Amino acid sequence: MVEEVLSPVDRGGGKTAPMLELRRARKQYGKFVAVKGLDLTVHRGEIFGFLGPNGAGKTTTIRMVAGVLRPTSGEVLVGGDDLLRHPERAKARIGYIPDRPYLYEKLSGGEFLRFVAGLWGREGDTVEARVDRLLELFQLAPWKDELIESYSHGMRQKILISSALIHQPELIVVDEPMVGLDPRSARLLKDLFRTFVGHGGTVFLSTHTLEVAEALCDRIAIINRGQIEALGTMDELRSQAEAGGAHLEEIFLKVTGGEAMSDVIESLRQALER
Ligand code: ATP
Repeated sequence: MVEEVLSPVDRGGGKTAPMLELRRARKQYGKFVAVKGLDLTVHRGEIFGFLGPNGAGKTTTIRMVAGVLRPTSGEVLVGGDDLLRHPERAKARIGYIPDRPYLYEKLSGGEFLRFVAGLWGREGDTVEARVDRLLELFQLAPWKDELIESYSHGMRQKILISSALIHQPELIVVDEPMVGLDPRSARLLKDLFRTFVGHGGTVFLSTHTLEVAEALCDRIAIINRGQIEALGTMDELRSQAEAGGAHLEEIFLKVTGGEAMSDVIESLRQALER
C-alpha cells in the first residue's frame, strides 16, 4: 500500500530527460545577485541535496525550481519541460513543500487534501481513496475531519507533505525538510523519500546542516554566495577535499573556506553536543 501511494504517475514524454535541469539559472533582487547562474542536472531516482549556509541562495533556487519564482535569466527544465514555456506540464511533475507553508486552518485535513487535488483537476473516487491512503500513511486518519487549526506542528507538516503528494508528482522539491520535526517524524520522512525514489521518484531538497545532507542525500551540491562550490557524492566530496577519511567538518572547511561556513559548523557542533 505504501508503495502504491508513493509511486509517481508516469506522465511519459520526459522519461529520457533528466528529472531536473538548471541552465545558467540566475536570480537578481534589485542590484543584488542572489543566485549567480547555476548549471545543475538532477537524475531520476536520486535524492539531491542543496547544502549551504544562511543566505547562500538555497530558498531562492528551490523557489525557482518549484516554479513560484521567475529566474532573472536562464532556464529550469523539469522532466524536459521548460518551466517558463510549459508551466502546466512542468509543474504537474512537481510536489513542492515550502519552508513557510500556508495552510487553510478552517478546512479539515480531508477537505484540504481534496481541495489541493481539485487544483490539479482531480476529483472523485480515486481522489477519495488516495486521500485516505495518505492520511493512513501519515497516521492522520483519526483527524481527517478535524480542522487544521487544531493540528500540532508535526501534524501540519504531515498534512503539507501529503498535499504535495496528492497528484503523484515525479519530483519532490522541499526546503529544509527536517526543521521542526521530532526524531520519529524525521525518520518517517527519510523512509518516505527513500521509498519514493525507490519507485522512480526524485527529491531535490535544501538544508543548512551537514547531518541532514549526509543522512539523506545521494549527491550534494554545496552552495555559497549564490554559486556552487562543490558537487558530488559524499565520497566524491571527500576526495575533492583531499580529505580521505577525515571528518565532514574538515571537508566543508576545505571546499568552502572556513568563515563562510561557520554557522553550518556551529549547528553541527550543537547537534553533536546534544
Ligand atoms: P537561509 O538558510 O537563511 O534560508 P538561503 O540559502 O535559503 O538562506 P536565500 O533565502 O535564497 O538564502 O537568500 C539568498 C540571498 O538573497 C540573501 O542574501 C537574501 O538576503 C537575499 N534575498 C532573498 N530574498 C530576497 C528578496 N525578496 N529581496 C531582496 N533580497 C533577497
